[in-house]
Amino acid sequence: AAHAKPTPPAKAGVPGIGAIIAVASGKGGVGKSTTAVNLALGLQANGLKVGILDADIYGPSMPRLLHISGRPQTVSGRILKPMEGYGLKVMSMGFLVDEETPMIWRGPMVISALTQMLREGEWGELDVLVVDMPPGTGDAQLTMAQNVPLAGAVIVSTPQDLALIDARKGLAMFRKVDVPILGIVENMSYFICPNCGSQHDIFGHGGARTEAERIGVPFLGEVPLDMAIRETSDGGTPIVVSDPDGAHAKIYREIADKA
Ligand code: ADP
Repeated sequence: AAHAKPTPPAKAGVPGIGAIIAVASGKGGVGKSTTAVNLALGLQANGLKVGILDADIYGPSMPRLLHISGRPQTVSGRILKPMEGYGLKVMSMGFLVDEETPMIWRGPMVISALTQMLREGEWGELDVLVVDMPPGTGDAQLTMAQNVPLAGAVIVSTPQDLALIDARKGLAMFRKVDVPILGIVENMSYFICPNCGSQHDIFGHGGARTEAERIGVPFLGEVPLDMAIRETSDGGTPIVVSDPDGAHAKIYREIADKA
């Protein structure tokens, strides 16, 4: 799309949006997107107006998680109207390409698509915009962290040592660009056996809390490994909306409260 107006300074805020927070992880598959969507819905359940910007160029998952298909409308060929899912305003890299199309965009194209979604999206008034970041700590992530005016970042990790080493790199990346760490979430923190009711720490337990204490950032909460979380996510009905009074929704609302 042609840009008629000059590009605003990279760190300028977005009018109408109160705060932009990133949900990030040191590597893929730890439940970053699942956390991002349920955190956004938890913030909404706590009374805020919330949007979500799915910036995960490698595997945009908001269309599936929020059961949204189609493409955002454009106004005068440039202004994008975010889609809506469960009351959230949503923009996703996934709306711009087919699910089967591999993401082989070069860095500058990714940044310009992201900037367009962020700054030329018709977000309206939002208290919070949650950005689902691409996993990892490479150039794309660093540039995004620099280009989006972030109020802070939430880091998602599983309890294993290896995942925590990657999470630590994520923490360091945000610190490097002066983005405050809002806290760490431990996902897949434990498993409650549906038959015997006892707790199994499949990937270990408590590593993220220890790490948070060690570096002096808030620990936001523990989310169990649970079939219902996976099924509701994959089914496009995240657990905070499909079971709002359940124990999992409560955990996510508490994380949203602390973040
Ligand atoms: P990431 O964004 O870090 O790549 P996802 O959020 O896409 O990870 O999660 C990867 C897979 O793990 C998905 O199938 C998701 O449904 C599942 N998952 C994530 N968190 C949990 C959890 N707490 N319990 C069960 N399954 C989970």
